[in-house]
Amino acid sequence: MKVDVLILGGGLAGLSAAYHLGERGVSSRLVVEAKATVGGTAGSVTTGAFTFDYTGHLLHLHDAYGQALILDLLKDNLAVHERKAWIYSSGAFTRYPFQANTKGLPPAIVAECVAGFLETVHRPRPLGPNPDFLSWSRATFGDGITRRFMRPYNEKLWRTPLAKLTTEWQGRFVPKPSASEVVYGALTGNNALFGYNATFRYPVRGGMQSLPDALAGRLEEGVVRTESPVTAVDLREKVAQVRGIGEVRYERLVNTLPLNVFLDLAAPLPADVKAARKDLRWNTVWNLNLGVDRPAPADKHWIYYPEKGFPFYRVGFASNFSPNLAPEGHAALYLEAARPGGARVDRDKLEAAMIKALREAGLLRRSDEISAKIWMPVPVGYVVYDRARTPAVGTIFRHFAALGVESIGRYGGWKYSFMEETILDGKRCADRLTGGAEAPEASPAAALRALK
Ligand SMILES: Cc1cc2nc3c(=O)[nH]c(=O)nc-3n(C[C@H](O)[C@H](O)[C@H](O)COP(=O)(O)OP(=O)(O)OC[C@H]3O[C@@H](n4cnc5c(N)ncnc54)[C@H](O)[C@@H]3O)c2cc1C
Repeated sequence: MKVDVLILGGGLAGLSAAYHLGERGVSSRLVVEAKATVGGTAGSVTTGAFTFDYTGHLLHLHDAYGQALILDLLKDNLAVHERKAWIYSSGAFTRYPFQANTKGLPPAIVAECVAGFLETVHRPRPLGPNPDFLSWSRATFGDGITRRFMRPYNEKLWRTPLAKLTTEWQGRFVPKPSASEVVYGALTGNNALFGYNATFRYPVRGGMQSLPDALAGRLEEGVVRTESPVTAVDLREKVAQVRGIGEVRYERLVNTLPLNVFLDLAAPLPADVKAARKDLRWNTVWNLNLGVDRPAPADKHWIYYPEKGFPFYRVGFASNFSPNLAPEGHAALYLEAARPGGARVDRDKLEAAMIKALREAGLLRRSDEISAKIWMPVPVGYVVYDRARTPAVGTIFRHFAALGVESIGRYGGWKYSFMEETILDGKRCADRLTGGAEAPEASPAAALRALK
């Protein structure tokens, strides 16, 4: 088989690249997807009467084109929600984000957090140009907020000492309140809608799977081949081995597989790229989903658990995003724990610990019947932004640029991003391949059109 553009992976990045290439007149393109369904991390699994996503997947739309496309894809199958997110710590529930809502915590802890924050205003700590996350958090939020939330929560999520993390990823994801917001939040708890994702959209029917399904529905028949894992790529000969299809020759390659996975399939690789591959770190998100025969607490979408005593860092109530994810009178819950990528995990032990903690947290009663239970781990969940990440990605992408290989999406691009951005990555990739836009720092400007 021979195609102009071979796209590895049928998640949102791969589907979007295929869609936008089609829009730009490139009909010879093939998406090969290992699983039986498209959507990847933005997909859903239906078991019995429950539908589960890979933990919470909510749409935050920031870009005019991204918003228009997603609204057109999902049409009336979207509802807007005001975030109801909470944190459980020191025996109390407080609203998310912690730094802007300490009301409800024991008074001594509120004082510690507010006083620490005000210290940062009155006696700012100098920070170097590329600070580590821990120093940045202390300088930005103060010692109290760092001790009570930022440090324990982020250590639980990233599974990396915070002094080894950079701050490159946090810009959009860690909201910074003003001093008055911190004081108001401590006294009134009125900052419920503070931060970048105060409202979100979610499909009314079908879970988040309805988004990749709608995007795939825009493609001609045969463009996507599911149950077709790529097993090897010869970058020099421009040929991929795909199970179920055989040899696929291509002019241009678009990778959306996690960068570590792709590099392990690709050859030949120079020594510096092989060394850079060894520097990539990630976490695995261990996502346990439960269906329970009792409605979820109506005032909560999800709860963060920063403390070590709880094995999960977050528990969410998906049936509060859409009642159609669970039968009437039932709740669909997701529990999230993280481990370093590649670490061995005893799933039965983790499951027992999670369910025990759910009971201790009062979210599950002894009388509750668990009518559905399914593990949906995300093997590469979050890319770890340690000091090695950015130089390694630079080395790898320079090599790809020389070969004319695109590597896009949250995992192909080896970054912290979200669904809308992933869809835009696919569009920008199609623009570059068809000569419609400037290449970004690390991608080739060569136009597919020129090849024809
Ligand atoms: C825990 C978690 C929560 C998130 N929450 C949100 C949220 O609330 N809102 C939001 O906007 N974003 C969220 N995201 C981010 C969102 O999931 C991603 O931005 C997006 O799904 C990434 O799509 P992708 O196409 O880049 O990668 P993927 O979805 O991972 O797609 C890659 C595809 O490649 C396939 N593949 C793998 N190996 C092979 C192979 N050998 N051959 C062929 N195919 C293969 C996979 O099956 C997959 O379909 C979250 C992510 C995680 C991990």
